Amino acid sequence: MRTLVTGGAGFIGSAVVRHLIGHTRHAVLNLDKLTYAGNLESVACVADHPRYRFVQADICDAAAMRQCLSEFDPDIILHLAAESHVDRSIDSPEAFVHTNVLGTHILLEAARHHWSALSPTRQARFRFHQVSTDEVFGDLAGQSGLFMETTAYAPSSPYAASKAGADHLVRAWQRTYGLPTLITHCSNNYGPYHFPEKLIPHMILNALHGQPLPVYGDGGQVRDWLYVEDHARALVHVATHAAPGACYNIGGHNEHTNLHVVQQICALLEELAPRKPQGVRQYADLIHFVADRPGHDRRYAIDAGKIARELGWQPQESFDSGLRKTVAWYLAQRGWWQRVLSGDYRLGRLGVAP
Ligand code: NAD
Repeated sequence: MRTLVTGGAGFIGSAVVRHLIGHTRHAVLNLDKLTYAGNLESVACVADHPRYRFVQADICDAAAMRQCLSEFDPDIILHLAAESHVDRSIDSPEAFVHTNVLGTHILLEAARHHWSALSPTRQARFRFHQVSTDEVFGDLAGQSGLFMETTAYAPSSPYAASKAGADHLVRAWQRTYGLPTLITHCSNNYGPYHFPEKLIPHMILNALHGQPLPVYGDGGQVRDWLYVEDHARALVHVATHAAPGACYNIGGHNEHTNLHVVQQICALLEELAPRKPQGVRQYADLIHFVADRPGHDRRYAIDAGKIARELGWQPQESFDSGLRKTVAWYLAQRGWWQRVLSGDYRLGRLGVAP
C-alpha cells in the first residue's frame, strides 16, 4: 500500500506516520506545508527509513497536489492537514476557511483526477480519508446523550464550521463522483509531540516553569479524551478496512472536565517532578480561572460503538495510563519542547519542493 499523509508533521499526523512506518509495510509520503504547527522533529525517528518520504507543499496549491499524486501514486490519502487551534480560529478565521475548506476541495479534485485514471482493481481499494472532529456536532450542554455518526452538524466555532464545510465537500465528492471516501470524527487527542498551545501540554509546561495554569470559565467544560497513538491506530485501521462512504466516530470513553484534567496533571507532576520551581508549594496552587472562550461548547462526548462492532477497534490506553505516559514524555523530552518554545524548531527545516 502507498499512503499519502497530509499534515504529517503535526501532532496527530506525525503519530500516524510513526505508526505506518513502525507497524505496517506501507510506503508513506508525508505532505506538509510546515506552518507554525508543523515540526519535522516529530518525525525525526523515521526520517531515514526507506519507506518514508517528506515533501513540503500546500494543499491549497492545485498544481503541486496534482504533481504529488501523480509522482507518489497513492492507494490511500489520509487527510489531516488543517488549521486546528480553536482560539486562533476566533482571532483570525480566514486561514481556517482557506486551508480547511478550500484546501480540502483542491485535494479532493486532485484525488478525483488521480483515482479516475487508476485500474479497476486499484480504484476499488483507493480511499480518501477525511480526518474530522467531534466539534462539528456542536454542544451537548445539559444533555446526557452522545454524538452518533448520524448526529446533525451544529458547529459553534470558526474552526468547527470550517471542518464541517470540508466534511460536506468530502461527502458530496463520494455521492456525486463516486470517489471512495471515508470520514472519521474523533474526540480530543492528547499525548507526546503535542504543540504547547493546546490544553494538556500548555498546563504541563506552565507548571514546570512555575507559571499560572489558566482555566477557562469555571473549568466545567467536558471533553472526551483519546490518547493520540490510539487515534493513529484507528485511522490506519479504518483506511484499510472500511467500506467506501463509511463514517466512524472514534473516542476513548474518557469524559472529564477541563478542571479535572488540570488537577490530574498537577497530581502527576507532584509524583514525577517533585522538585518544584522556586516559590511553588503545590502545583495545583498555580490553577487560576480566566474569562471563558466566546462560544465555548460545554460538553462533547462520543459514542464509539460502531467502530468497535464493525471493525473491532478499541482504545488501548485509559485516561490514567495515557496521561501518565504523556507527563512522563514531556519530562523526558525537554529538548523537543524547548526547541518549540524558543522557535528553533523552525530553523532546521529541510523542505523539499514537489
Ligand atoms: P496540528 O495543528 O498539530 O497539525 C496540522 C498540520 O497540518 C501541521 O503539520 C501543519 O503544518 C499542516 N498544515 C496546515 N496547513 C496546511 C496546508 N495548507 N497544507 C499542508 N499542510 C498544512 O493538528 P492536529 O491536532 O494534529 O490535527 C490533525 C487533524 O486532526 C486536523 O484535521 C484536525 O481537525 C483533526 N482532529 C484533531 C483533534 C485533536 O484533538 N487535536 C481531534 C479530532 C480531529
